[in-house]
Amino acid sequence: MNSNSFAPVIAPPAILAKAPAMDTKTVQAMDSAHYIHSFTDHADLATRGARVMTHADGIYVWDSEGKKILDGMSGLWCVNAGYGRKEIADAAYQQMMTLPYYNSFFQTTNIPAAKLAAKLASLAPSVGDRSFNHVFYSSSGSESNDTNVRMVRRYWDLLGQPQRKTIIGRINGYHGSTMAGASLGGMSGMHAQGDLPIPNITHIEQPYFFENGLPGESEADFGIRAAGWLETKILELGADKVAAFIGEPVQGAGGVIIPPSTYWPEIQRIVDKYGILLISDEVICAFGRLGHWFAYEKFGYKPDLVTFAKGVTSGYVPLGGVMVGNRVADVLIEKGGEFNHGYTYSGHPVACAVALANLELMERENLVGRVKDDIGPYLAKRFAELNNHPLVGLAETCGFAAGLVLVKDKATGECFDSSLGVGMICRGHCFGNGLIMRAVGDRMIIAPPLIMTHAQIDEMMALILRCLDLTAADLKQRGLWSANL
Ligand SMILES: *Cc1c(COP(=O)(O)O)cnc(C)c1O
Repeated sequence: MNSNSFAPVIAPPAILAKAPAMDTKTVQAMDSAHYIHSFTDHADLATRGARVMTHADGIYVWDSEGKKILDGMSGLWCVNAGYGRKEIADAAYQQMMTLPYYNSFFQTTNIPAAKLAAKLASLAPSVGDRSFNHVFYSSSGSESNDTNVRMVRRYWDLLGQPQRKTIIGRINGYHGSTMAGASLGGMSGMHAQGDLPIPNITHIEQPYFFENGLPGESEADFGIRAAGWLETKILELGADKVAAFIGEPVQGAGGVIIPPSTYWPEIQRIVDKYGILLISDEVICAFGRLGHWFAYEKFGYKPDLVTFAKGVTSGYVPLGGVMVGNRVADVLIEKGGEFNHGYTYSGHPVACAVALANLELMERENLVGRVKDDIGPYLAKRFAELNNHPLVGLAETCGFAAGLVLVKDKATGECFDSSLGVGMICRGHCFGNGLIMRAVGDRMIIAPPLIMTHAQIDEMMALILRCLDLTAADLKQRGLWSANL
């Protein structure tokens, strides 16, 4: 129902008003015949045809049918500065005309790569005895986490402890889709395809209070208990076998899982106790998403390696990397000799020039500070109102990311049977009504561009509320839900 749109179809700005060069059906036919998409069921896709996105501006994207959609997900958590930013496009053009490509192998560099490394080092706060003066570049979050595996093992080899190989991640964590990235992550559906995880990677349970908290347990106590699963795992494996622990500050793809405030400090205590390296995967959480340039600062822990990608370029071109803390950098640089690792596109001049322009823009518009002190708190206040909705078990935000869980029984927190696909039903209403909101099981999540105004937050909240109401009515009609609205 309601797939014919509710959102007004507004003509795009003049600069974007070029008609799509092909009609929707032609694109869909070509697409379905030749293009294998990421995370897509192709039999299903062939029957309905892909949604074709044609252009974007600000916080909105338009599809080939002319429908305007509020992008509540910043693409895939990356378009932090919003769409249509001319200075970012100009930086790419200038760099392409100046030096479109050169590599960083064999004692060579380029100006944007060196400038960006210095910039990132200046943005990454020192914590305690950890400081970040070095960066290693890749082109994605997945590659960066592959780099982390290489670097962590090299570090322990150089220190004469080659038996320290095991890296501990978390169930429902997401660290990318390469062999190492998918192995570090804890997505069972990914592990099931292709014999993952690879050896010497193991997982502990996630700190998801709503699901894993015990009756009567406080959130603070749960945070300590959840961190304790790391210590249990370390002791089970033998502390001298463990190389590193990896986690997202707030789990993104897992459904915006926000850990209790006690969790990360306790994780820090445990990794310190056993001398284990700590990897903070901030591919989503860095560059303003949580109101800080880097999210370890928000939660007060001291990582050795920080994975970044997505927001560093606001997604305009691919770039990722690892911030290498002094503990690891000192060993790699002073004792390491040549590190036999790198990518053709490490330190790509265009990607680095785009990142510099993006970071400059974010500084000029104070996007990070706005999330911390202005639009973040405003979103938190508006999103919390959804807790009054009969279908919502818990709605919460962290910076400019938010999640809510759809429940069958608000009083007891009882969830729907996962086979009913209630989250996907809700997502269908969102798409149909001009809002991109993602479903992770029955958790509905958003992570909008950081440029939103209060009025745009209000507009998004009205859409979310309307879609929750439509979902509720739909579930009743299907006989899946009986609570009174
Ligand atoms: C998206 C993501 C990745 C993978 O990044 P890609 O650029 O898709 O390879 C890794 N870690 C986290 C936390 C992510 O959200």
